Amino acid sequence: MRVFRARVFTPIADPFTTDSAKSYTYYDDGFLAIDGDRIVGIGDWREVPRQSSSLTQLGRDIVIAPGFVDTHLHAPQLEMIGSYGGDLLEWLNRYTFPTEAKFRDPAHAAMVARVFFDELLRNGTLCALIFSTIHEEATDIFFAEAERRGFRAIIGKTMMDRNAPDSLLESPRDSYEQSRALLQKWHKRGLLRYAITPRFAPTSTPELLEAAGQLKREFPDAYVHTHISENRNEVQWVHDLFPEAEYADVYDRYGLLGERTVLAHGVYLSEEELELLARRGSRIAHCPNSNLFLGSGLFRLHHTLEAGVAVGLGTDIGAGTTPSMFTTMADAYKVQQVQGISLSPFQLWYLATLGGARALSLGDECGSLEPEKSADFVMLDLKSTPLVALRSERASSVEDLLAGLIFTGDDRVVRECWIGGQMVASRS
Ligand SMILES: [Zn+2]
Repeated sequence: MRVFRARVFTPIADPFTTDSAKSYTYYDDGFLAIDGDRIVGIGDWREVPRQSSSLTQLGRDIVIAPGFVDTHLHAPQLEMIGSYGGDLLEWLNRYTFPTEAKFRDPAHAAMVARVFFDELLRNGTLCALIFSTIHEEATDIFFAEAERRGFRAIIGKTMMDRNAPDSLLESPRDSYEQSRALLQKWHKRGLLRYAITPRFAPTSTPELLEAAGQLKREFPDAYVHTHISENRNEVQWVHDLFPEAEYADVYDRYGLLGERTVLAHGVYLSEEELELLARRGSRIAHCPNSNLFLGSGLFRLHHTLEAGVAVGLGTDIGAGTTPSMFTTMADAYKVQQVQGISLSPFQLWYLATLGGARALSLGDECGSLEPEKSADFVMLDLKSTPLVALRSERASSVEDLLAGLIFTGDDRVVRECWIGGQMVASRS
């Protein structure tokens, strides 16, 4: 058994539905005990188990917390962050498609994959739901890099057969067969899972969505990952392409809505669509930084949660401009603030950790520090920058400490990352 002594913070329940004081645990002088890949204890230092074989004293400047969970991002778009101007549909044509076409080259994919997982770990993200491109080999490379790092990832090959440049189109048959081969190779291999990944309805013919639905029927425990209702022009386009259905119905009629379905955005969902998603148990990845960057709109968080739809936070790189979940929490705060709602630091931190893990159906495995869960955690350094040090020293409570970290923290705060009891990244 290995024991770490430090400050310890973890969400343990949903602060949107439970009293916030009961939604977390925090020890000013606490311990985290791990054995192999599992957490075996967490608590006040005075109650530390005596038989610990190895003790690491981290001191009061370190907070041990669960790693961040990013519920939606695009690995191939890392290199185009900040490509400015235009709304979603212009941005896809002008920047995204040419960038994604480069991933036909495996050497390019391998280079980006290395930088991509470096960046996630540097920012304390230990679990993510990831879009690749349409390329089978590039997707295989992203999986292999995640495995090499010991990273907990759900990845999928993008499926597209219309409304994109020819170099990014495939036949529904090829899309099905390549997705199926990747799924069989990687799904449930160690910490990796496969997501059936049609880009979104406008780049899909009915035949492609049928192929995706067939995969889901064959592999019911695989994920489905796509976009929905991000932008008003996109919603109108879906109505034009599929005149007989609302956006959510388009996915539903092909059997693509279930508990392991994660839909990015959901800014303009109707009451009927929210009700359908709630009935199917499907989840929304809220990507505030991306919604602001592309000018897509303001997500109605409470409305969505109250409809019974679970929500996680996503960076949505490269429409999102940062891999940092600190900034993503800060932007989630601001998106609600301009709608007259103030999210608490506990609510933000929940969305970025346990809430995200639950949105990915991984809440029994990661997202919080609780006995029997995987030993996935980060060490946050309260002395990492002069500003973080000043703000943390002035913090009047754990709530205030977390608020300070959300708004002043960045990758320099993350000192070490551990996944499954193994250190997978360190600043030193
Ligand atoms: Zn996206």
